[in-house]
Amino acid sequence: MNYSIALIRGDGIGPEIVAEAQKVLEKVCSTFGHKFEYKEVLLGGASIDVHGVPLTDEAIADAKSSDAILMGSIGGDAKTSPWYKLEPSKRPEAGLLAIRKALNLFANLRPAYLYHELKDACPLREDIIGDGFDLMIMRELTGGLYFGERKTIEENGVLKAIDTLTYDENEIRRIAKRGFDIAMKRRKKVTSVDKANVLDSSRLWRKVVEEVAKDYPEVTLEHMLVDNCAMQLVRNPGQFDVILTENMFGDILSDEASMVTGSIGMLSSASLNETKLGLYEPSHGSAPDIAGKNIANPIATILSAAMMLRYSLDLDEEADAVETAVQQVLTDGFRTVDIMSEGCIQVGTKEMGDLIAERIAKKC
Ligand code: NAD
Repeated sequence: MNYSIALIRGDGIGPEIVAEAQKVLEKVCSTFGHKFEYKEVLLGGASIDVHGVPLTDEAIADAKSSDAILMGSIGGDAKTSPWYKLEPSKRPEAGLLAIRKALNLFANLRPAYLYHELKDACPLREDIIGDGFDLMIMRELTGGLYFGERKTIEENGVLKAIDTLTYDENEIRRIAKRGFDIAMKRRKKVTSVDKANVLDSSRLWRKVVEEVAKDYPEVTLEHMLVDNCAMQLVRNPGQFDVILTENMFGDILSDEASMVTGSIGMLSSASLNETKLGLYEPSHGSAPDIAGKNIANPIATILSAAMMLRYSLDLDEEADAVETAVQQVLTDGFRTVDIMSEGCIQVGTKEMGDLIAERIAKKC
C-alpha cells in the first residue's frame, strides 16, 4: 500500500532522531511491501528561521493532506536561542500548540512501559517495580487551562494574572470515548483522574466519564484525585492500565510517568483527532545540549513511528515488528549513552537506528 507521511524533523536532536525512524520505516516498507511518500513540513524554530513564524498555513495544509505526521521535537535553549527573544506567540512552542489546534488533535497518548532490560534505570525500588508496569496516559490536549482566556491586569497598583479553566461536556465525552476504546484493546481498566473535591470542571468531567462508561460494561472505571494519582504512580505504578485525564493534570502526570520508566529517550507519544490522522512524536524535547553529537536515543521516535503504523495506518503487524525489533536490540545488549549500563555495548544514534532496522522481520 502507498501512504503519505508528513515529516516534521524539528529542532535540536529532531533531525537526527527522525532520520533513524525513517530508516526503520523504510525497512518496514521493503519487508512488508509498502511505499511511504514523505512531505517535509517545517514547524518550530526551523520554520521561524525560514518563514519568521513557527507554523505556516502551508505547513498545516501539508500535514492535513497526509495520512499521518511523524515529528522529532521542537524548541531550543531558552537562555541562548534567538527564538526566545520573540514574543511568546511567535516562539517555537506556539507552533506546536497551533498545529494541535488546527488538526484538532484533542487526544494525547503516552505509554509508560518498563522494559525488563532497563529495570536498573528505574528509580523505584525493586519491590515496588514488581513485575514491571505498562500504562497509558490519555491526556486531553486542546482544552482546559492551557487554552482558556488569560490576562494580566493591574488592580490598585498590584499586578494580577488570570487563567481560565473550562471544559464543556462534548470535549470531555470525546476524550473519554477514546480512553475507553484504548482500554478495550488493553487490560480494560480506566482510572479517570480529576480534582472533583475542588473544581467544577472536574465534577463535570467525572459525571460525563461515568455516562460514557455505561457504553463500555467490560471496562472497570475508577476515579482518582490528581494528587493521589501523582503519589500512586511512584507507590504502585503496576495498578494502572489507562489513566484518563485533562490537559494540565495529564501534562504533569505523563512527565512523572516518564521519569519512573527511568529513560526519557524511550517514551513515544501520539496525538489523535476524530479521524485516523495523528501526530506522532517522542515525549522528550529537542535536547539542544546534545544536538549534532550522534548520541541522542532515537528509540522514542522509532516507537512513535510504531504507534503511527498501528493507530493511523492500521498496520498492526508492522507496528509489532518495530516494537519487537526494539525489544531485541535491548535484549542483545545495545544501548545509547542515556540508557547505558555495565556489560552493555554503547552505540550512537545512527548505529541504534541501523540495529533496529536490521531486526525488522515478518513473523514466521
Ligand atoms: P529535553 O527533553 O529536550 O531534555 C531534557 C534532558 O533529557 C536533557 O539533558 C537531554 O539531553 C535529555 N534527552 C532528551 N531527549 C533525549 C534523547 N532522545 N536521548 C538522550 N537524551 C535525551 O527537555 P528540555 O531541555 O527541558 O527542553 C529542550 C527544548 O525542547 C525546549 O525548547 C523545550 O521547549 C522543548 N520541548 C519540546 C517538546 C516537543 O517538541 N514536543 C517537548 C518538551 C520540550
